[in-house]
Amino acid sequence: MDLPKPIFELEFGHGSCYGEEEREALLDVLKANAPSCGPRVKQFEEEFAAYCGCRYGLAVTSATAGLELALRAVGVGPGDEVITTPLSWISTANAAATLGAKVVFADIDRRTLNLDPDSVASKATPRTKAILPVHLFGQCCDMDALNEIARARGAVVVEDAAHAPGAEYKGRKAGSLGDIGVFSFHQQKNMVTLGEGGMITTGTRDLYERMLSFRSLCCRTYDPKGKYLPLDEAVVPMGKRYWYLDFDDIGFNYRMTDAQAAVGLAQLRKLDGFNARRIEIANRYCELLQGIRGLRLPYVSPDVKHVFHAYCVLVEPGSKEDFMWEMYTAKRIKVWSHYMPIHLTTAYRKLGHSEGECPVAEELFHQYVSIPIHPRLSDDAIAYVVNSIRELA
Ligand SMILES: *Cc1c(COP(=O)(O)O)cnc(C)c1O
Repeated sequence: MDLPKPIFELEFGHGSCYGEEEREALLDVLKANAPSCGPRVKQFEEEFAAYCGCRYGLAVTSATAGLELALRAVGVGPGDEVITTPLSWISTANAAATLGAKVVFADIDRRTLNLDPDSVASKATPRTKAILPVHLFGQCCDMDALNEIARARGAVVVEDAAHAPGAEYKGRKAGSLGDIGVFSFHQQKNMVTLGEGGMITTGTRDLYERMLSFRSLCCRTYDPKGKYLPLDEAVVPMGKRYWYLDFDDIGFNYRMTDAQAAVGLAQLRKLDGFNARRIEIANRYCELLQGIRGLRLPYVSPDVKHVFHAYCVLVEPGSKEDFMWEMYTAKRIKVWSHYMPIHLTTAYRKLGHSEGECPVAEELFHQYVSIPIHPRLSDDAIAYVVNSIRELA
């Protein structure tokens, strides 16, 4: 069957907005031979970390890579449990699964759709090594509660902040709210680095050094006194004739390129502006979609600054499928279902997960729908989306 193409502007997630700044930054990098992990990466790490109020930043190839790196550095492996939400992109859970740990899904809060701390507490065991909350759609989780649960059990908190660069919780930025934060700069996210990219933030030197090492295959060079130097910093001659590289552990290659970082620096300077436009659009939606029967608009906690990576509404039980189909075929608006609960995917069913693990997520899965939101959405497009929803709801 031939489906109509969605109207470009009304596809779900066009995060990418580039301009002259990115073009110039890229040309400069080309002139400098476009290295991997060069001076632009270093600068991007420093500026992004400072923006988040964190001491250390570590640029990586994606958030999928960053999450895995973070859990690897924490020491997550077989026999450990990692608690996370079923409502996320599958990368979140995969970070634990690929390291051989058991993924434990806690249920979500009905209002925010974020991880419910009570459910997390009820699923924590002495084996819980990490809690992996996701700031879903750009709204920070109840981090005080989650940090307390983790602290009481000696577990580490890794924020999946893929939706949340610039988001705040009680005045502090996402990425600085747990032990480690992980961001995505994939083309659909709030800021982007040429299609793919990611960043890790932390305030802990030890974790930073471990992640730095794992990012680059745990390759170390030794200076003559036996002091380790990361590959990124120097290759050191041994005596007069030899250089050698040794490897401390089984690592990854998750290094970002300078081309991505140069674009990331330009994007970071625009991030607050992008987010301001997303918030403005969300406010318009909230105003114009009020009072439609059977439509529930997003709840925003008073503790947060929500940066609306997505604008998610709840439709009446039983109507989601028709609503999505009509929006697409009759109105050419691509709405989305974020996300299929991860424990119900084929991959996680194979690991033994099934219905009943997270009843709230399973119930709301039949109701939540994301409608278009991105900085380039025009006021006309917003009006068209609103009128379409009014007609169909
Ligand atoms: C996009 C996304 C990721 C993965 O990011 P990549 O950079 O594409 O690997 C992880 N978690 C969430 C919540 C995401 O939306």
